[in-house]
Amino acid sequence: MTKTIAPAPRVGIVSLGCPKALVDSERILTRLRAEGYEVSPTYEGADAVIVNTCGFLDSAKAESLEAIGEALAENGKVIVTGCMGKDETLIREQFPNVLSVTGPHQYEAVVSAVHDAAPPQHDPFVDLVPPEGIKLTPRHYSYLKISEGCNNRCSFCIIPSLRGDLVSRPINRVLAEAEKLVKAGVKELLVISQDTSAYGVDLKYAEADWKGNPIKTNMLELSRALGDMGVWVRMHYVYPYPSVDAVIPLMAEGKILPYLDIPFQHASPNVLKSMRRPANQEKVLDRINKWRDICPDLTLRSTFIVGFPGETEEDFEFMLDWLSEAKLDRVGCFKYEPVEGATANDLPDQIDEEVKEERWHRFMEHQRQISEVKMAAKVGTLQKVIIDEVDEDGAIGRSTADAPEIDGSVFLNGDTEVKPGDIVTVRVEHADDYDLWGIRID
Ligand code: SF4
Repeated sequence: MTKTIAPAPRVGIVSLGCPKALVDSERILTRLRAEGYEVSPTYEGADAVIVNTCGFLDSAKAESLEAIGEALAENGKVIVTGCMGKDETLIREQFPNVLSVTGPHQYEAVVSAVHDAAPPQHDPFVDLVPPEGIKLTPRHYSYLKISEGCNNRCSFCIIPSLRGDLVSRPINRVLAEAEKLVKAGVKELLVISQDTSAYGVDLKYAEADWKGNPIKTNMLELSRALGDMGVWVRMHYVYPYPSVDAVIPLMAEGKILPYLDIPFQHASPNVLKSMRRPANQEKVLDRINKWRDICPDLTLRSTFIVGFPGETEEDFEFMLDWLSEAKLDRVGCFKYEPVEGATANDLPDQIDEEVKEERWHRFMEHQRQISEVKMAAKVGTLQKVIIDEVDEDGAIGRSTADAPEIDGSVFLNGDTEVKPGDIVTVRVEHADDYDLWGIRID
């Protein structure tokens, strides 16, 4: 007799916000897939829709509310979670019919809301889940979240009030997850947290057991152990603390990628002070120069904020001069936006929108010129490139200097012989301000 399997319940998910929120979505989906749920790519095909919201900026909140409204209109059974879920009253005022509202990392509550909306089936044919879980990133790269929350109190940011103080994941659990991902075919691990250099502080850098050997919970030992896994390892959200110095030789040796994502946000001591961030950018310049002496291929990426309350023309120019000296490789820039609940909202001398706009354009042009020179210097060099996409026109990849989504690309026009996840050597033939074009030589 043929066994009939009832159709599995289906959930849709709209995942907004940063890579950390994406990891939360992946965890929720992994759990639901393990219970036999299927993921629906459309609203109509879903028995319920999860909206994982972002509450970082007012524009992100508006986008989250819009997504909830759309999911309600198109499907009707909506489960809200994520950073904005902390403000349940606001969500319920606008959307009284949502099924449940929970804050970030409340996986259990989200899964239980899904159970209520679309009860799970228990059947071994649908309970299978790949060992690496369900990933929302392409198969060949994956984010690896090492901690939650933050001990800093930057005045423009509400992450600590949303997510609390730093809580590091035990290092052996992080490494076990990384190993599973690598076994499943992941070729690049992107380490994320709010403050990667502070990893382990809350655990007093406790020792754990990893394959029969003791290992300390800190960024250096994590980098070394991940580096032993034989895949690309890229470090995000690192602060230039002295402890990071010890990681740079691992980059020089090729253990982990020579890449650091350091959110500087500003350079002027006055602005940094009112942002409540460390304010000794001269020391930082010395540190960067020392790092480059040890690892000349080091790529530094950063983000900055222009138009922070009280930022004078002098402060702004100080930042441009600092950029000219630091010669960072990859730089993003945001116009300051007040975020509900942030202490910076009460600062005097808020900056006019036109001034923010004008400074943003000057900033971008200034950095474009720095980037143009840096990219031109890569023409003629050999670069390792990981392939992200291939179609009939050729392949698109990234060099070690490029993180997915936020940095540049390397175009291999006409090359259709490679596949996503391949790591190849490319001779660079052409560069523009941010991207490279080249030919594969192996
Ligand atoms: S370091 Fe500052 S900006 Fe980053 S999460 Fe912590 S408080 Fe927010």
